[in-house]
Formats: sequence, structure tokens, C-alpha cells
Amino acid sequence: MLYQRSSQLFVESSKVIPGGVNSPVRAFKAVGGTPIFIKEAKGAYLYDEDGNKYIDYINSWGPMILGHAHEPVINAITERAKKGTSFGTPTALETEIAALAVSMVPNIDKIRFVNSGTEACMSAIRLARGYTKREKIVKFSGCYHGHSDSFLIAAGSGLSTFGVPNSPGVTEGTAKDTLLATYNDIENVKALFEANKNEIAAIIIEPVAGNMGCVPPKENFLEELREVCTTNGTLLIFDEVMTGFRLAKGGAQEVFNVKADLVCFGKVIGGGLPVGAFAGEAKIMDYLSPLGPVYQAGTLSGNPLAMVAGLQMLKEINADEELFTRLEQKTAYLEKGIREVLVATKVPFTINRVGSMISVHFDTRPVVDFETAKNGDNDRFKLFFHELLKKGIYIAPSAYETWFITDALTYEDLDFTIQCIKEVF
Ligand SMILES: *Cc1c(COP(=O)(O)O)cnc(C)c1O
Repeated sequence: MLYQRSSQLFVESSKVIPGGVNSPVRAFKAVGGTPIFIKEAKGAYLYDEDGNKYIDYINSWGPMILGHAHEPVINAITERAKKGTSFGTPTALETEIAALAVSMVPNIDKIRFVNSGTEACMSAIRLARGYTKREKIVKFSGCYHGHSDSFLIAAGSGLSTFGVPNSPGVTEGTAKDTLLATYNDIENVKALFEANKNEIAAIIIEPVAGNMGCVPPKENFLEELREVCTTNGTLLIFDEVMTGFRLAKGGAQEVFNVKADLVCFGKVIGGGLPVGAFAGEAKIMDYLSPLGPVYQAGTLSGNPLAMVAGLQMLKEINADEELFTRLEQKTAYLEKGIREVLVATKVPFTINRVGSMISVHFDTRPVVDFETAKNGDNDRFKLFFHELLKKGIYIAPSAYETWFITDALTYEDLDFTIQCIKEVF
């Protein structure tokens, strides 16, 4: 494959954009080389500026669960755009998507829309702090909740990839209110509560971690967190920016049957436009401005183009009773195929998967938290990534990322992918 135009575009972008990209993981720093510039996409495929075609296993980091340029979504956006793109007033669309989301997700009465997953998580902890009148939060090493200050502490993927545990610019004052826990280790969480009695506003967690590769919660771990929170008057926040509308209509709450007090959304809920949201019971959500004292706002929040894209996406997901079964089957098929190849090649590996989230770690030890996620052989991963890319398979350019399976993938695409992996080894 030739990447002439991409290389030239990267030179140009690097002159005027820091690192040539608007979000760090796109830069290929973790795997070496220069990023590929994508020109267009359709269904399961990406097409770059040099005319190369790829099977896409990133899918915009999750949103494209039904495939790229999905027609009903594109049509809804196009029709809507003709009527004006932003009013700064309420619109009927916002109520429509809110009502649909509330009907699909368990345990939520009200939802507020924002512009990104970062904003959703940042606002959810402000609300939790205001509601509980406490300042500290517990987060887990390797979990990513967006780039707001409180969360840039052992934050997985982008940050781990670059070996920057904390970002300069985050003050000590902010960092001291974020307590770090070990994923899947309930005793560790309990010890933090013991040491910070009546001070912890919230536990925030990715109910299935997706930013240190895919790491499922151990049996009962989420239930135990629920219990710790209930006992201590602490709110449990599920960051479902990745898992929401991907693992099931109702996300991880539905899959694991555990109730969160607040839930954060992003990615799928925007149908490919910039949307985030956070939601919960009315008694907590009504603590937000203009009803309550906790301030939160946004000029473009609930933007009509973004809402119509998200609404169409949720409608499709809601109407398709077989969607999550198909995603499960396709991803299980891929997992089985990769497993057979890797077993035959005797390469040390672990595959983690929950539904349509899957990751391959090049180490035989189980990957259950951030420490064990770091065991993977990164040099092998780099080679794996670049060799697959040459064959037209586009996986995330970091060993700490999950692959996101789209329903647009055919079994032929999956067979081709498995065949390519075999050739690579
Ligand atoms: C992507 C992600 C975020 C951040 O969302 P942005 O839209 O990138 O700001 C937060 N939490 C999780 C779990 C994510 O995967």
C-alpha cells in the first residue's frame, strides 16, 4: 500500500495542529509511523486519501455500531440541516431522544445532553459532589473518563500509551480529591472507604473497562461496589460512554443487573456526531440547574443536528431485536478464529471479550486490571498492528484499546481478517 498523500497531509497538519492531530491516539505514536488520513467511509470500510481500503475495527472508537454513513442517520442529518443548525432554544427533538433513552435504559428518569463523553463524566461528578456535599471521588487505574482534570490520573489508553501517568496542568489540589483504586479489587476499594470515612461523593467506573484493552468486571465486583456505595451514602457512577447502547439497549446496567445512581453516555448515543449525556433518578438529576444548585450548561448542548443523529441511531437500535445477538455472534466468531490462529502459532496471548468489545493481549497471564494489562508484549503489538494495516485491516493503534465490532461486518470480512492474522504470524 502507498501512503504518499497521507504522509504529505501529516506534514501539513503538523505545521498548524499540535502533533498534526486533534486527539492524541490518532497520531500513531504508540505504534510508530505516521497516521493515515481517511477520506470517506461506508459500512464496515474506510477509504484513505491514497485510495486504500480497510476493514475498520475502530469504528470511530465506538459510535459506528451500525456501520459508517448509515443511511437513515445520514438522511436524518441532511434533512434536519436544511432547517437550521442551532437555535439556543429548546427543541421538540431533545424531548424525543430523552424520552427514548429513558425508555431504553434501566433506572434513569431524566437525562441531560452535553457535547462529549468528557463533559458527561465531568458534569456527573460535579452533580455527585453537589448532591452528597462531599469532595472526594474514587476512580480505577486504567479507566478513562475523558480529559477533565479530576480524571487525568492513571487514565488508561492515550495516557498510558504515552507513559504520562499524570498530566502537567492538573493541580495537586485537584489530584488529591481523586482516590485511585485497583480494578476488580473490592478489598482495595473498601480500604479507601475506611481511610476516607464520609468523604467520598462517588465511585466512577467503566462497568466493562475498555481503555486498558477490554477488561470485564469479575463476578460480583459491580454488585459489591453497589453495596459499598449504598452503605456509605456514596453515588455509584457507571461511565457507559463506551458500553452504553453497545452491550445492550440498557447498557451494562442491563447486562449485569446492577443499578447505578448516575450513568454517563457518549459515542453511540450521538450516532457519529458530538454528543454526550448523563442520567439518573429524578431526585438526583433535579439537583441540576435551573431546578437545583449544581450549575451545568452548554451553548451547543442538545444541538438539533446532533440530536437527530442520535435519535435516529437509538431508534434503529431500539427497533432491531436481533442486533445485539448478531453483534455477539460476529464477535464470538472473530474471537474463535483469532484464538485458533494464535494457539497454532504458539504466540503467548490472552483475549478478553464482552459482547462486541474485544482485545488481544500478547501475554498468557489473565488481564484483570491496569497492572496486568501492562504485561502485554508491546513490540509484538506494534508489528501486529502495522502488518495488519498493510493487509487492509485497521485496528486501534495502541495495545490499550478495545476493538469495536460493527454490525456492518460480514462473515466474509471476518474470515478475511482471521486469514490476514494467520498470514501475519
Ligand atoms: C471515550 C470515552 C470517554 C470520553 O468521551 P469523549 O467523547 O472522547 O470526550 C469517557 N469515558 C469512556 C469510558 C470513554 O470510552
